Amino acid sequence: MTDGTSTSNMQEFTFKAETKQLLNILIHSLYKDREVFLRELLSNASDALNRLRFEMVTNKNVLDSTAELKIHIDVDKDARTITIQDTGIGMTKNEVIENLGTIAQSGARKFLDATKDQKVDLTQVIGQFGVGFYSVFMVAEWVRVTSHSFDPQAEAVTWYATGDDSYQIGGADMSERGTRIEIKLKEDALEFAEEFRLKNTIHKHSDYIGFPIYVGDSKDAVNKQTSLWRTAKQEVTEEQYKEFYRQTTLDFEDALSHIHVSTDAPVQLYALLYIPSKAERGMFSLRKEDGLKLYSRNILIDEYNKDLLPEYLRFVQGVVDSEDLPLNVSRETVQSSGLMPKLKKVLTNQVIKELEGLAKNNVEKYHTFWQEFGAYLKQGIAATPMDADMINPLLRFKTNLAPDAWSSLEEYVARMWDGQKVIYYIVGEDPKSVLRSPHLDYFHSQGTEVLLLTDPMDSFMLMGLHKYKEIELKNVSQADVDTTQKPKEQTEEEKIPDTDFNTLVDYFKQVLGDRVTDVRASNRLYQSVARLADADNSVNADLQRVYRYLGKEFEVPKKVLELNPSHAVLKNLLKLDAGSDLQNIIIEQIFDSALLVEGLHPDPSSIASRVQQIIEAALVKNTK
Ligand code: ADP
Ligand code: MG
Repeated sequence: MTDGTSTSNMQEFTFKAETKQLLNILIHSLYKDREVFLRELLSNASDALNRLRFEMVTNKNVLDSTAELKIHIDVDKDARTITIQDTGIGMTKNEVIENLGTIAQSGARKFLDATKDQKVDLTQVIGQFGVGFYSVFMVAEWVRVTSHSFDPQAEAVTWYATGDDSYQIGGADMSERGTRIEIKLKEDALEFAEEFRLKNTIHKHSDYIGFPIYVGDSKDAVNKQTSLWRTAKQEVTEEQYKEFYRQTTLDFEDALSHIHVSTDAPVQLYALLYIPSKAERGMFSLRKEDGLKLYSRNILIDEYNKDLLPEYLRFVQGVVDSEDLPLNVSRETVQSSGLMPKLKKVLTNQVIKELEGLAKNNVEKYHTFWQEFGAYLKQGIAATPMDADMINPLLRFKTNLAPDAWSSLEEYVARMWDGQKVIYYIVGEDPKSVLRSPHLDYFHSQGTEVLLLTDPMDSFMLMGLHKYKEIELKNVSQADVDTTQKPKEQTEEEKIPDTDFNTLVDYFKQVLGDRVTDVRASNRLYQSVARLADADNSVNADLQRVYRYLGKEFEVPKKVLELNPSHAVLKNLLKLDAGSDLQNIIIEQIFDSALLVEGLHPDPSSIASRVQQIIEAALVKNTK
């Protein structure tokens, strides 16, 4: 062995196939940004120190319990080596085998998959696959890891590898706690034996590591050591905020905005929160679950805490750190400590305030936010009605009068006509077809604005949204209309005389039978021939939709068919031979079309053959 390993009792192990391939790529094809190996090793050292600190909260039986928690880097230019040593938790022999030999396979496989994606910058993402350690082989001819676990009973162990197919494990004489990583640099990586090069790299990637990093003989730590969230706002640059977000989430897109708070009352807390720009987590996202990282005095106590924000804000990413959380709490009891509701309240208010600010000052960004996360807020209204007052002003809607823009309820209210007492909405399947709904006839003709609710989540939202600032919301399909308020731009068509209309109603009843509860005249249809209305005693239409979305066994209640007594189609229908085939299929078609607009048709394709019959009839008539 050329590295001068003196230990003789070395055992040889073979890397798994995936790890071999991974090493091969790292050694032979990644030359860019090789400095990230240092970030990965320092991040491991920092993890090890954090874990030790957490252990010491409850365990007094720790090797070198008074040793400073630190990282030390030494370089030897002549020997072409770097040594990185930490006083962290260390590893036992089994842990070394697991952590540096076996465990990485699944991560290695995923990393190999990622190498097929040309867009991914591999050195940036390697850390998230749980294989960050291996990045050292980008610069190393060989690596030797020597470790002594915090457990006073454990023995020191050493691991040695050159990046070939195998690694070796043996005993070592290292008496102090922690892990030492010795790297023999490749000839073309000599730059990393320069202290200034290392220091620059530390500033760039590892400044916020919460433990001092010493380089060479200097007594001063190179890194700033304070976490970004504990740094005063005015000292943090926009680029640092972005970098932190990238590092914690590995989201390739910048966040929409960030919230940096530090408060002392009613609770002490530091928080750095981000509103992502996409609801969907990227394929390579570091965050596997929702939730915020929770620190107590700089110690990570929960990686995915879900109690710090209400569920409807679960898309928010970031870190919360509080001095008030007692240190000696286990991860489990944190949840039950009375502090959590207080933290939650402060954080919720901060996020809502940020969103209000965005809505006001950066409308475009807010609309991006709304498109991505609107459904979460709508769900919040249904699930957390006590927060509805906070959420309502953040809602955005398309309307019949402004179908391409987003309007807030506030804007809608400001546009209501004098004497309009109700906020109207219509529920439908999609924004285009809902505009053709017969329920809108009256409101269109009158120029009344109606909110278009076409997102499935809207029906759930309606369960909690009954009023906005004391103004009631009403579904147009159910709203009473005030026909004394004459439609503005409508000349009144002549109505079918009552006796004739009654005959028509009879035709409809005969054809449709018990598929409808009633057939009657409507006073609110203009362009449309007919509409379906709810029978007076039936379940609320919005709720019907909720049941349907939930896939509940639920039969849509039969409806009332309302006809437009002035419509030319009906006038002509009366002129056909009573009970003729054509009359019957047209009645069927009118009913089917009404079902279709409601999104209630059980079998839309069945309409096609009937439409053909109608076309044929029309052609015969016109070519006679
Ligand atoms: P990750 O850090 O994502 O788990 P790495 O490949 O960077 O993946 O490290 C693999 C594992 O090796 C770590 O999870 C840890 O258990 C162990 N390890 C690496 N470096 C150290 C260290 N300095 N001290 C203690 N354990 C370490
Ligand atoms: Mg790591």
